[in-house]
Amino acid sequence: MKLSEAKHSEKVVITKVLGHGSFRKRISEMGFIKGKEVTMIKNAPFNGPFEFKILDYNISLRESEANLIEVIPVKEFIKPENGNYEGVTDLKIDLVNQSERTKIINIALVGNPNSGKTTLFNYISGSKEKVGNYAGVTVDIKKATFKTKGYTFNFYDLPGTYSLTAYSKEEIFVRKFIYEQTPDIVINVLDATNLERNLFLTTQLIDMDLRIVVALNMYDELKRKKLQFNKKELAKLLGIPFIPTISSKGIGLEKLIDKVIDVFEGKEKISRHIHINYGKDLENAIEIVRQKIKENKPITDKISSRFLAIKILEKDQQVNDLLSHYSNYDEIQKSTKKEINKIEIIENEDSETIITNAKYSFITGALKETFKNPNQDKKTRSEKIDNILTHKYLGFPLFTAILFLMFYTTFTLGAYPMKWIDFGIAALGNFVSGIMPAGMLKDLFVNGIINGAGSVLVFLPNILILFLFISLLEGSGYMARAAFIMDKIMHRFGLHGRSFIPMIMGFGCNVPAILATRSMRNRGDRILTMLIIPFMSCSARLPVYILIISAFFDKYQALYLIGIYAVGIVFAFITAQILNKTIFKNKETPFVMELPTYRLPTLRNVLYHMWDKTQHYIKKIGTIILIGVVIVWTLEYFPRETKKTKDFQSKIENVRLDPNFNIDGKKSQVKNLNQQQESDRLMNSYIGRIGKIIEPVMRPLGFDWKMSIALIAGLPAKEIIISTMGVLYQVSDNETTVNLQSKLRSEMYEKGDKIGQKVFTTPAALAFLIFILIYFPCIGVVAAIKNESGSWKWAAFSVLYTTGLAWIAAFLVYNIGNLFI
Ligand code: GDP
Ligand code: MG
Repeated sequence: MKLSEAKHSEKVVITKVLGHGSFRKRISEMGFIKGKEVTMIKNAPFNGPFEFKILDYNISLRESEANLIEVIPVKEFIKPENGNYEGVTDLKIDLVNQSERTKIINIALVGNPNSGKTTLFNYISGSKEKVGNYAGVTVDIKKATFKTKGYTFNFYDLPGTYSLTAYSKEEIFVRKFIYEQTPDIVINVLDATNLERNLFLTTQLIDMDLRIVVALNMYDELKRKKLQFNKKELAKLLGIPFIPTISSKGIGLEKLIDKVIDVFEGKEKISRHIHINYGKDLENAIEIVRQKIKENKPITDKISSRFLAIKILEKDQQVNDLLSHYSNYDEIQKSTKKEINKIEIIENEDSETIITNAKYSFITGALKETFKNPNQDKKTRSEKIDNILTHKYLGFPLFTAILFLMFYTTFTLGAYPMKWIDFGIAALGNFVSGIMPAGMLKDLFVNGIINGAGSVLVFLPNILILFLFISLLEGSGYMARAAFIMDKIMHRFGLHGRSFIPMIMGFGCNVPAILATRSMRNRGDRILTMLIIPFMSCSARLPVYILIISAFFDKYQALYLIGIYAVGIVFAFITAQILNKTIFKNKETPFVMELPTYRLPTLRNVLYHMWDKTQHYIKKIGTIILIGVVIVWTLEYFPRETKKTKDFQSKIENVRLDPNFNIDGKKSQVKNLNQQQESDRLMNSYIGRIGKIIEPVMRPLGFDWKMSIALIAGLPAKEIIISTMGVLYQVSDNETTVNLQSKLRSEMYEKGDKIGQKVFTTPAALAFLIFILIYFPCIGVVAAIKNESGSWKWAAFSVLYTTGLAWIAAFLVYNIGNLFI
């Protein structure tokens, strides 16, 4: 626990002092060191400072300071028999052997995208975070806690960053995490085959004065490429221990943990704090600004003043904001401006570039002494593959072919298991209907739950196949090439090449796609991408397409499917173009996108990814879809009686008693009347009434009230559209999807001017497909847009825009279609 959490008059023992520089020094001078006993005397009202007693004198600390001191209650301290701790302690105890709570090491994994952080994290923690081969997979912090070697480790997997400037959301994220959470150890994961670029981030971590251990990852590739690297020498140079790892195989991770413990316990000899030498002029400037900043104690207790000085000289907005709360900010600003001016005149460059160059010079220098690449000019395997896949002429057709294969397989291969599941659900329906007595409950189970949820479950195989492809593309590194290939086209529509990955991810599910926009540097680009992602047809919509397409189109089904997706993409581009010309003007950012080396995706990774989505889908069926089904069923089942019910019943009675009919005639008459009664009831049910209210709005699109209701029911999740249709079209007892299709095909208007005509004409079916493609992104997406854009404005915009557009597009399709068909 933190010292600030100690209770009134509680006695605690210090286990760890976090923080930096002068704060650490000052606080240890006052006696706050490991193993000392402290008593909380009181805390001042209104979150004022705390008062403590230590070494028999009283002292007051602010909460922010007390937060940096970790303690445990004194009674949890076990005194060892033969303690031989050599530090100055009151209790004469060996801290290393204390109760578990004293031994927590917080570790942050920091490194470039694709350096293998998540793989390392997964291996070490035994969890299965998604591992992907392109920038922007990890957009949130993942935490894993586990115990080993007598320590509890809290591992945090941070998003990949190339640097700690405040360009992208991820960089700000990582920086904030380090400021606020003050991890004990930072594991800097390096891609050993790309040291020059990877070390750039390391230099910034060094500036931040953190305790670092380097995981020299991809060591297998370094060996394979026969690169010569004297890691001992570089480690010494940087004052950071280097541990070679192959995290995809778990090699070296044990040593890494050992090294972390060594550094944590202060036993590591190599560890020391170095200053990267930026050259005389810059160092002068840094020192002057640092002295000014140092007067702000509360900040510099947590963040190294040298880092702040360097950042403010780089004109970093965030650090400026951070310092702006302090009384001498004006002074800091003044001397910073002066220093920036000076160095910019000397070097004739922008101050940020000067510092970046200085860092790279440092790295180049350090590598020159320690690193050699004997086969510099040979083409790597990846480059050879790239020669074909991103070829000037071949690239695009290959890309299209891959997309086609993806959708074609989804449709055709998926059809087989779909039939089996369908069969299983029908059998289950039959079975349940056989054993349950007739009545409301049976109707709920058979017509509501089994049919409704079953009609969604049927599409599980299609979704699995689609995700199989997406995870193969991600894992192999092709996804980044796709972005590369698409950049030219994307650019024409005012989009960034980077937008392409979130867009493709959107085919799986829009929500993670919106999160993935975090890797984009420019806010305008980000929001623009978020707004067009809903046009990427997610897997929830796929079942509806498949149902409608296979019910109404006999030929070229895969082409229709691709067509729908293509329409979505076209709308996305048009939207981008419009927004670009109006709301987001001039937001150019250069295309800096790393092309990671191609890798054979591991089976484990791909299978896990698929399983993860499957789980997600099944969970959705069990929760939100089930609830939706029950609500729709209830609205449909009640009220049981209408004005005409008595009428129908007496008519049926009359037929039964009528001597003019033979037995068969009676049967068909009764069946006919029953059907009429049922449809009359349905129209007067609650859902029928809702449908009637919105029908006028939907009528111009060729939708009847049942279709309208299905669309409304699909607002929370689009899968519900299908289950609602399953309930509404009364697919009863031993029938399911295949019959839902034939039911749709024979659905007639029962009233109004179109009486006796088919509901689903080809134009109406097409309009329905288009409407589902475009209208209201599901609730999850709206929430994601709100969170990620930081305002309801964009979420509301997205809802109104998509729904309005859906109506117009469906209207055009239906009416133009009617002219021709
Ligand atoms: P992150 O972006 O830093 O989280 O990187 P990931 O953990 O997603 O890894 C990127 C890719 O590198 C994945 O395809 C991993 O399978 C692969 N990878 C990770 N570590 C190693 C390694 O030590 N050797 C090799 N050859 N590949 C690795
Ligand atoms: Mg990752």
